[in-house]
Amino acid sequence: MEAKTATGAIIASKLRSDFRERYGTEAKVVRAPGRVNLIGEHTDYNDGFVMPVAIEPGVWIAIAPRADRKLRAYSQNFSESAEVDLDESHPRPHGHWSDYVQGLAVMLQKNAGYQLRGANLLIFGDLPIGSGLSSSAAIEVATGLALLENSGSTINRVELAKLCRGSENEFVGAHVGIMDPFISCNGRAGHALMLDCRSLDYRLLPIPDGVDLVICNTMVKHALATGEYNTRRAECEEGVRRLSQRLPHVLALRDVSVEDLDRYGKDLPENIYKRCRHVVTENVRVRDAAAALEKADLAALGRLMAESHVSLKDDYEVSCLELDLMVDIAAQIDGVYGARMTGGGFGGSTVNLVDKKAVPDFQRRVVSEYEKGTGLMPQIIVSTAAEGARDVEA
Ligand code: ADP
Ligand code: MG
Repeated sequence: MEAKTATGAIIASKLRSDFRERYGTEAKVVRAPGRVNLIGEHTDYNDGFVMPVAIEPGVWIAIAPRADRKLRAYSQNFSESAEVDLDESHPRPHGHWSDYVQGLAVMLQKNAGYQLRGANLLIFGDLPIGSGLSSSAAIEVATGLALLENSGSTINRVELAKLCRGSENEFVGAHVGIMDPFISCNGRAGHALMLDCRSLDYRLLPIPDGVDLVICNTMVKHALATGEYNTRRAECEEGVRRLSQRLPHVLALRDVSVEDLDRYGKDLPENIYKRCRHVVTENVRVRDAAAALEKADLAALGRLMAESHVSLKDDYEVSCLELDLMVDIAAQIDGVYGARMTGGGFGGSTVNLVDKKAVPDFQRRVVSEYEKGTGLMPQIIVSTAAEGARDVEA
């Protein structure tokens, strides 16, 4: 814990000195974390429940005011600078990382009515980019907080999360839900967050001290992911359309109970029934997982994670050989409470809850057995449940 906190402090202090060198002034620093979803997969777009956790890797931004109405940003990850005019009358995206900066400025000024000051920004992320740990939400949330701080304004965290989603949907042009910016804004050290994606009500749930989150990247991303994701969404909509003929209160699969599905599910086509069964049972599992965490019952949480994986594999059919292998390897290692695929599927990562003492052995065995099975070297990230976005004091 201490070593990892120290890493954050080192990053912030290095960023301040790099900022001085680049722009010649002192800077304020903010940090926003990436995230992993512990349980509740493919439930977000069905108005259901998810349980993300903020992780230690994230995006740091150093910022200081400029006299003019420009944002000048340099990303150390891309070794590149970009300029945004805050008074641009028709701002549009360029398919460039700076869209994430400009999108937030547009949302804050045009949609939320803030008056922003010009600024110099220096950006650094220690999250793998494009690996499903939400570096996009981390840069959005960090940018939002940095620009507001620089302009002497404050914001409600739920509002900020909505503006970040708005920026990614409407400006960057990526179809994403509220979960990622929400946890990056509202995460709490040592806690998971159960979010109701319909009402945006949330509960913080303590994660016992003795475990780490271990994220294992399969290093594969199968090409059918996007097409299948769209198909799953359409299948869920079809399920809602058919079930609502019998159950008029059903507006989303979130409104369907296990008993409803037992009674009316037999009239559904087989594949639609299976998709619905995943979503309906996954929503129950998320709530059961919250109850398990409240009792510090890691064994129960682990069983729910295992059931979630099986449901994603057999009913939702979004797993793949590599994810199944990674989960199977983990499940056989002592000190592992739970292992499941996380994210959309067809590759990407697994999330594992591992006894801290067992983590070194876990890493060794996963690397060796996964490599033996696939010829691929997995990337492994070990993290505690981290704090949501914050100013980093000098
Ligand atoms: P993920 O959110 O899974 O990491 P995305 O494709 O949604 O992947 O977002 C990645 C994009 O976010 C990058 O291509 C880049 O445009 C932007 N981004 C993330 N981190 C940084 C960074 N440190 N500097 C500049 N841009 C970043
Ligand atoms: Mg993203």
